[in-house]
Amino acid sequence: MKLQDLGEFQLIERIRQRATNRAGVWRGIGDDAAVLSLPEGHHLLTSTDMLIEGVHFRRDWTNGKALGHKAVAVNLSDIAAMGGCPRFLYLGLACPGEADLDEITAFLEGALEEAGKFDVTLVGGDTCRSPGPWIISVTVEGSAWAGQEIGRNGASPGDVIMVSGTLGDSALALRMLSSGQALPEELSQRHHRPIARVELGRRLGQQQLATAMIDISDGLAGDLEHILQASEVDGLVMEDSIPRSQAFQDQVKIDPEHGDLPLYGGEDYELLFTVAAENVARVYALSAEIGLPVTQIGVIQEGSGALRLQDKTGAVRPFLVRSYDHFCRP
Ligand code: ADP
Ligand code: MG
Repeated sequence: MKLQDLGEFQLIERIRQRATNRAGVWRGIGDDAAVLSLPEGHHLLTSTDMLIEGVHFRRDWTNGKALGHKAVAVNLSDIAAMGGCPRFLYLGLACPGEADLDEITAFLEGALEEAGKFDVTLVGGDTCRSPGPWIISVTVEGSAWAGQEIGRNGASPGDVIMVSGTLGDSALALRMLSSGQALPEELSQRHHRPIARVELGRRLGQQQLATAMIDISDGLAGDLEHILQASEVDGLVMEDSIPRSQAFQDQVKIDPEHGDLPLYGGEDYELLFTVAAENVARVYALSAEIGLPVTQIGVIQEGSGALRLQDKTGAVRPFLVRSYDHFCRP
């Protein structure tokens, strides 16, 4: 069945039937606006991301369910990066009338499954016809105790730079897809089904352990630079300490030209954060408790936003930032 055989309002009704209302939702899908509340003393956190077919994804490289999952995960990641707890989800969807209803249903399933994992409720959205590409716009709202949000601007000299998980996997998967190579399953998962580090982010916020935080969507170099500039400090990263997965290391042995992807590659959705030296042990304890490795990759120094890299010989060089810009070629 095609979307045009069902129609906008029937689709919205199907979406409404699948959404379950949770805490804080007084009115969800079905009215002119959602009516929501936050726990007493919390600030509202809001983040939106767009995914455009042909720019952010190719439907022949992924499937509806993975796409729904990823569209939500990348937004949850932004709330996590603020040290917040995600709560409400909005789904804007534009598809051509000929779009396959099964693919849309799978997309919804993926999105709702991912939201459900974190008790996030789908409370609204918009549905339109697109003249061609699929356009997905996801908004997530969350909350944090007033004043406990973690911005990009709190890093101080002496803080340690830490990152969760491993870096470079998603970008490597994309490169391999682009050149028609078969993907090891681990890399495929990392690219198509990124995991938002919701628990780590929320706990770093709640326990006030991170001084600054960002999620890595554009690559370590570019995203760290956002922290350095917002905090008006310099950063020194030890190249050798950047965590790489086994699958990544195996692939780089075959093809060494991918070696710098942990520095520049995007879409890992790991958390990059700074921690006062006296709190580093507590962060490792938290990491062990939730079962998500974190790695110390550098230190914050006095300065005005410059990033430097130290190689295994100890030589230090300035970082050449090549993070992705939608309008400028790097
Ligand atoms: P309006 O004409 O005011 O834009 P709509 O008919 O688009 O209203 O939407 C009706 C209800 O359905 C609203 O609650 C809206 O948030 C919800 N809705 C529409 N599209 C979606 C979607 N893709 N996902 C979730 N909720 C949706
Ligand atoms: Mg509408």
